[in-house]
Amino acid sequence: MARDLPFVVKSGLCVGCGACAVAEPQAISMELGELGAYLPVRKDGGDLEELPPDVLTRASAVCPFSNNARNEDSIGQELFDKDDARHHSALGFHQKIVAGYVNEEQYRELGTSGGLTSWVLTQLLIDGEIDAVVHVASTLEGLPNPLSRYTISRSVDELLAGRKSRYHVQTLNEVMAEVREIPGRYAIVGVPCFIKAVRLLADQDETIRDRVVFGASLFCGHMKSTLYSDYLAQSMGLETPNVKDIDYRHKEPGRPPNRYCSKISTFDHQEVIRGSEQIPMANWGIGIFKLGACDYCDDITGETADISFGDAWLPPFMSDWQGTNVAVARSKIAAKILERGETSGALEVIDWSAEKVAESQAGAVRHRRLGLAIRLANRIKMGLWVPKKRVSPASDKDLKSLFGQRMINREAIALASGPTYLRARRAGNLSIFIDEMRPYIRKYDGSRSSTLWRRAATWVVLRLPTPLEAAARRVARILKFS
Ligand SMILES: Cc1cc2nc3c(=O)[nH]c(=O)nc-3n(C[C@H](O)[C@H](O)[C@H](O)COP(=O)(O)OP(=O)(O)OC[C@H]3O[C@@H](n4cnc5c(N)ncnc54)[C@H](O)[C@@H]3O)c2cc1C
Repeated sequence: MARDLPFVVKSGLCVGCGACAVAEPQAISMELGELGAYLPVRKDGGDLEELPPDVLTRASAVCPFSNNARNEDSIGQELFDKDDARHHSALGFHQKIVAGYVNEEQYRELGTSGGLTSWVLTQLLIDGEIDAVVHVASTLEGLPNPLSRYTISRSVDELLAGRKSRYHVQTLNEVMAEVREIPGRYAIVGVPCFIKAVRLLADQDETIRDRVVFGASLFCGHMKSTLYSDYLAQSMGLETPNVKDIDYRHKEPGRPPNRYCSKISTFDHQEVIRGSEQIPMANWGIGIFKLGACDYCDDITGETADISFGDAWLPPFMSDWQGTNVAVARSKIAAKILERGETSGALEVIDWSAEKVAESQAGAVRHRRLGLAIRLANRIKMGLWVPKKRVSPASDKDLKSLFGQRMINREAIALASGPTYLRARRAGNLSIFIDEMRPYIRKYDGSRSSTLWRRAATWVVLRLPTPLEAAARRVARILKFS
């Protein structure tokens, strides 16, 4: 039956994008739940499952995690499988790939990475290719509000005010209603599943198809619930109503860009900065507060976008604290903008290969290919609903392997962190969270064949100067520790 939406939601695999509510605005709206994730609810308070079949069919066809929607290969093929586009299994189609940064104004300084995302979108606005950009900006409304949300920028100044990555959940339903209401040509920025959702909406809705003329994706390791932002604030000893904004990727001179550092600004004009190594379990690979859906996604770079942007996490760029992008252009217009920037000197970039991009995202590729196969097999074994992915479920033998157990234990961390944190917050005691999560982390560490030595080595490596850290990681990779 082409009505998967209720299965997606019930099995915890809804990413909260809101595409279903955009497709069926009379019947469905989005709500931010206590676990800090957006979920679709029926406007009349009933059960999603009991929605009229035609409503459920249309809503399911635009859900990026349902089996009733086209997959990334099908969408990418239709949009980009022409001209001289090539295909890579981890990136999708690509025409031009570069690594580098913006060499003019403050794009790099004020951007998350090399500032290419904001620069390319600015060019589209200046060239008159688009009238507006749909992207995420800070609300400055303070926690427990979601701190950031989708907005529409119609000028370069508005667009640039929204620079920087926001790592916790967003939803599209309100902003897409505005796109439907106000004519114009829009570019949209989003993580891969959000761009896919907009492409699926465009299949059904002529207005969206005509108006959203450009998609820019951010590479995505995973998205967090809003509890992550609350946790950062609590870990820095800040009262949440006082938190005005979070820069999740604050740049500190000399600090490698892949060692995240957060800066929290408060309403009483404090600025508190902490590196991820100073906040328990903030290591991105552990995945606390990760959305369940993110463990069932096989699109790392945003294969349905005209262009995708990520971090060039490979030497020599990894040691440059100012940040360096990788950009994968799939459409002609995106490739041309990159070429123009290269020729004019506005961009300081070099050509990169698809293989290099995959290498720079090696952890995500492993997690979304081999790791996904394990998680699919595990769910099937438990008799749970699974989405159809471009990866087949792993064998029973692989499921039992060390790597298999590591993947299962990693997923358990994500699943346990939200409810555990809520309990700790209600008790007003953060150490409940840290103490109750410790066994999960130990199990995960243990399944990585880790010992106290391994953890101690990680602690040391995270504090080494960058060239030494890079060398240590290379040795670890050769010895297959990572
Ligand atoms: C949840 C998440 C996970 C990510 N995971 C990875 C990863 O694993 N590997 C990797 O290489 N890169 C990842 N990125 C991308 C990376 O953080 C940078 O966003 C990217 O390199 C672009 O940097 P920039 O300097 O070009 O962007 P900037 O010039 O700072 O511009 C960023 C643009 O993106 C918009 N934006 C910010 N957050 C969101 C959001 N959540 N949804 C929609 N629009 C948004 C802003 O409004 C702005 O227009 C992730 C980003 C996010 C949001």
